[in-house]
Amino acid sequence: MANPELEKRPTEKTSGIKAFTPEGLENLMSELKLPKYRTKQLVEWLYGRAVTSYDEMTNLSKQLRAQLAEKYPLYTPDVVRKQVSEDGTRKYLLRYHDGTTVETVGIPSKNRLTVCFSTQAGCPLRCAFCATGKSGLVRNLAPGEIVDQLSVVANDFGSRPTNAVAMGQGEPFLNYDYVIGALRFINAKEGLNIGARHLTVSTSGILPQIRRFSQEPEQFTLAVSLHSANQDTRNALMPGVRQYSLDRLSDSLRSYNDMTGRRISLEYAMIDGVNDTMPELNALQKFCKKLMCHVNLIPINSVPGSRFSPSPYEQIELFQSRLQQAGIECTIRNSRGSDIDSACGQLSQKVSK
Ligand code: SAH
Ligand code: SF4
Repeated sequence: MANPELEKRPTEKTSGIKAFTPEGLENLMSELKLPKYRTKQLVEWLYGRAVTSYDEMTNLSKQLRAQLAEKYPLYTPDVVRKQVSEDGTRKYLLRYHDGTTVETVGIPSKNRLTVCFSTQAGCPLRCAFCATGKSGLVRNLAPGEIVDQLSVVANDFGSRPTNAVAMGQGEPFLNYDYVIGALRFINAKEGLNIGARHLTVSTSGILPQIRRFSQEPEQFTLAVSLHSANQDTRNALMPGVRQYSLDRLSDSLRSYNDMTGRRISLEYAMIDGVNDTMPELNALQKFCKKLMCHVNLIPINSVPGSRFSPSPYEQIELFQSRLQQAGIECTIRNSRGSDIDSACGQLSQKVSK
């Protein structure tokens, strides 16, 4: 019997050459008896220059180009729709070769261009406050399909992204190998050449993968969606990760701190009457005290059909000042692009609204 989960994996059929991880490309080239530097050249064409056809890869032999083109077509996503926010944020609806669609966001600021990219089409975890989780998982994205989101943004803004965050659709740690593969292409000199510290992965807290992430050689940044340090509240908000208790999450994050020496960002979307009460603040403070972390408080963004509304701003400020008094770093993050539904948790599969 077919395994439905496996069908949610991208393949060479859905994604052509973009299905390969950096390691996969190296293996492919060595099977073809080609030296290592050929892989670098290929990566530079695919991701450094983001060409749309093998014909442009002029330093590879015609024979190799034809061979690759036949077996592993080079697909690039179509931009189906682009929306521009009053604050300059741009949201793109992209369609891959097999018809799968995702959204990606470009966020310009003074000296930066940050891309908020998706790692899955949809998401299986169904957090109560998130638009992406509403329709479940469509499929995982291939490494090259993830990198292509940055290329689309780079192309449209006419400049290279300086930062990238896996905070679009999907749970990156349920597509671990392909997300790490994508980050390596993005980090590579011949790829997009963005420093590992400027690449952030946000997870709802898949513990085995947090451990793996702490063992990766690159200094990627980790963000964790906490949203409540009270087990019952968190279970109600994030039912998809209830098997990983807050105690175990805390232990995992502490060993991440110890193993990497790096700080963790904790995301906390403030919801009126749900996770913004005094007992919630006390629990949050206790959770953070044991960690090397930075808390981002975000007024929850509205999503269609949601019963949640953002906490009053004074309450968010109160949380911030109490955490700071307790020696915990904390910022209030105002979402960008909410007028075009491109703020955190507002991304969905929908083609028209
Ligand atoms: N699946 C990963 C990454 C994608 S979600 C994760 O959950 O961490 C990116 C961030 O947006 C997460 O911190 C998520 O909790 C947050 N988010 C989701 N819906 C939101 C909403 N309606 N308002 C504010 N933040 C939201
Ligand atoms: Fe998935 Fe993250 Fe949305 Fe939860 S918040 S449903 S984990 S994308």
